[in-house]
Amino acid sequence: MNVYDSERMLEAVSKTHKLVTSPNDADAILINTCHIREKAAEKVYSEIGKFSDLKRKNKKLKVIVAGCVAQAEGNAMLQRQPLIDSIVGPQMYQNLPNILLDESNKRNVLLEFNEREKFSKLGTKRNYASISSFITIQEGCDKFCSFCVVPFTRGAEYSRSVEEVVEEAKSLCKKGCKEIILLGQNVNAYHGAYKNKTQTNLAGLIKELAKIRKLERITYTTSHPRDMNDDLINLHQYNEKLNPYLHLPVQSGSDNILKNMNRKYTSKQYLEIIEKLRKKVPNIAISSDFIVGFPGETKKDFIETLNLVKEIKFAQSYSFKYSRRIGTKANRINCSLTEEEKDERLQELQMILNKQKIQYNKTFEGKEIEVFIRGKGKRDNQYRGTTKWMQSTIFESNKSIESDKVHLKIKSAMDNCLLGELI
Ligand code: SAH
Ligand code: SF4
Repeated sequence: MNVYDSERMLEAVSKTHKLVTSPNDADAILINTCHIREKAAEKVYSEIGKFSDLKRKNKKLKVIVAGCVAQAEGNAMLQRQPLIDSIVGPQMYQNLPNILLDESNKRNVLLEFNEREKFSKLGTKRNYASISSFITIQEGCDKFCSFCVVPFTRGAEYSRSVEEVVEEAKSLCKKGCKEIILLGQNVNAYHGAYKNKTQTNLAGLIKELAKIRKLERITYTTSHPRDMNDDLINLHQYNEKLNPYLHLPVQSGSDNILKNMNRKYTSKQYLEIIEKLRKKVPNIAISSDFIVGFPGETKKDFIETLNLVKEIKFAQSYSFKYSRRIGTKANRINCSLTEEEKDERLQELQMILNKQKIQYNKTFEGKEIEVFIRGKGKRDNQYRGTTKWMQSTIFESNKSIESDKVHLKIKSAMDNCLLGELI
């Protein structure tokens, strides 16, 4: 979502400012930030420190911090780092043009939750598009998982209207987009309305988007198991534009931990969703998020996570060591695990998940599949792209490729990509 936000920030200021390639040439430096784990948040301060020389040389240079760290730390950020001129929360960046034009030395602090105004001011016309483009359709979260800062940094659940999303998608498709990745902290909690005030869910919105002729692929992230309804599951079977991919974070395989995380589902319920989906789309790529070392996680809890992983067999995954976040409920629970124990668990889990990823990718060897090109690879004649199962793919071509999509025969599968040959 920060990628989407950064694109929209650039568009918002495009009347008066253009992107430069080096901070040395900049009149303003905008840092978009993530607060989900401690490491990401701390990185912000070291990044800003790098600009102290530039700031001394150019008194007019503005340093603006946007995003969830700005939202969470507020005025304390200005005190801790005097180089910062203004801070702007994730629901207020529609005001960036005014901040950039403000010639007073005032330090602006904009931290309201004003999603409605944000999206209406940003509009639906997009300046930039790539073959795979993001659209935020839903923001914020009301679920309050005990480890998570999102409800505090992004605010309450908000869904954009159907027409707004469809118009934005059409604008992207006019500029060459063929795949849309619908975004939300809880994207499958989407409950947007049409202009006539009738509401629809994510499946309803996807059906509307699928009518756009130039749009070939649709995918969505991130979903919550509790909001995985039958409409959406059935759509995976019937809608050809919907990618056979689902990112459904489980976090843990232990019911005890899931309860303490306030996830409000059990490992059995999670398994049932996956079974249902696999009955409809047998080779669907299932991806997930895991947290290891949540406060109170015993060896038995951890083994239950490993067992769930072995039973499901994931195609992709993201796994993290639990990170304490101020203001969250879990922060009040004592954690007896050492960092080394958490590291060991993470490594053990990741080893299994990586093997599963290779096993899934190996089922594609010898197959002919369509790949959307996302850019050049590391070598001159190398290209990278993605399949509709959201696998990264690499192939070589000595002739330059004019099209933005190609058909490949998959030669071999690695844990992090497929290697293909042009057909
Ligand atoms: N809405 C999604 C998750 C969004 S946050 C869901 O409900 O699953 C993205 C991922 O970051 C989470 O799935 C979780 O695995 C990880 N995460 C969030 N808070 C964390 C924390 N305090 N420590 C470690 N990982 C965390
Ligand atoms: Fe955070 Fe996701 Fe839980 Fe919401 S549902 S609180 S975004 S982990």
